Amino acid sequence: MLVQKYKDMLSGKSVIRQLSEFAAARGAEIGYENVFDYSLGNPSVPAPRDFTDRMIHLLATREPVELHGYSPSLGITQVREAVAVSLEKRFGIPYRKEHIFMTSGAAGALAHAIRLVAQPGDEILTFAPFFPEYHPYVDLTGAVLRVVPPDTERFQINFEAFEELLGEKTAAILINTPNNPSGVVYSTATLERLTDILRKKQKEYGHEIYLISDEPYREIVFEGEDAPCVSWFYDNTIMCYSFSKSLSLPGERIGYVAVSPKCRDAETMIQMCGQISRGIGHNCPPSIIQLAVAQVLEETADLKVYENNMNILYKELTDIGFTCVKPGGTFYIFPKALEEDAGAFCQKALKYDLVLVPGDTFGAPGYFRMAYCMETEKVQRSLPALRRFAAEEYGYPKRG
Ligand code: PLP
Repeated sequence: MLVQKYKDMLSGKSVIRQLSEFAAARGAEIGYENVFDYSLGNPSVPAPRDFTDRMIHLLATREPVELHGYSPSLGITQVREAVAVSLEKRFGIPYRKEHIFMTSGAAGALAHAIRLVAQPGDEILTFAPFFPEYHPYVDLTGAVLRVVPPDTERFQINFEAFEELLGEKTAAILINTPNNPSGVVYSTATLERLTDILRKKQKEYGHEIYLISDEPYREIVFEGEDAPCVSWFYDNTIMCYSFSKSLSLPGERIGYVAVSPKCRDAETMIQMCGQISRGIGHNCPPSIIQLAVAQVLEETADLKVYENNMNILYKELTDIGFTCVKPGGTFYIFPKALEEDAGAFCQKALKYDLVLVPGDTFGAPGYFRMAYCMETEKVQRSLPALRRFAAEEYGYPKRG
């Protein structure tokens, strides 16, 4: 018999993917350059030339058996070492290779981190707006994902709602800063308050409450924005990192789990990740990609375009009259829709070839996400469509 829970998931297929498929189909009709596809968070800038050169060098100089052979299940030892050294240098936390587990992107890192701590009966808390793939990562462990409603003023944390949901069954808190979809970076004050509460509750309940920190956008932080390292604040932190966005390598599927050296049983947790990967068959990320990223750990793709696009969109949206928290990083912006039903709002936008994603998908109804990882020229060309949409459908900007 086929397993019902996977069948049930078919009805909840990713809205973002569906919109992106719509954009591709519409593009086939009118030319993709005429579709303002703000649906998918697929980086638009190329991987750094240095990364390509190092790949070429590896292919030219190393033995095929080494490059294309199986990686050890925790990742290639010298790659784990290089990651640990780089993290220590950047954040002053004494990571060692024993704290690092190489994964297939942040998705792989999250799937392992969650499995480390979540069992049937447990609860994992996250904060709206949140990345919708957290549901399958958590749901398939048998634990329950509980979503704290958003702080719609600033998209930091709604602490009142958080403290109501935090309970004895809470095994972990899952955060994402800089955030997809809001673009907001959690401040030091937010992280201090969050981790103070967690420390208090760990004592009260007599068990660990882990902080799983999803950080694929760590390098995409805009000027003047302070983006504190989450692992500074809390010993029981499991960092989940990805090179997908920082190096524009989403197709290469590479990232890592870094368990804080101060986390109790940190080294055992990394060994356990190796066992989890056996179970889920999500093991041994490609050797050649591990070797290549290890040589460019402190580089990024040219990320300036994202900040530039954000400034253009933020100005236009607020000029039109949208309510919008200014992003501090990522390549997303998350304005309030011009009607309560963001699904209907995004449906109407399609008439103007604007592909927007309703906030319901991210646990924040009434909002919509724009992924502005595209050429600035296209962002600029989309502005008249955005203006026409707001004017013809909603009479914005409102005068007087
Ligand atoms: N977490 C967040 C918040 C994301 O936005 C994404 C991808 O868009 C992921 C995790 C998954 O990243 P990866 O492609 O590295 O698996």
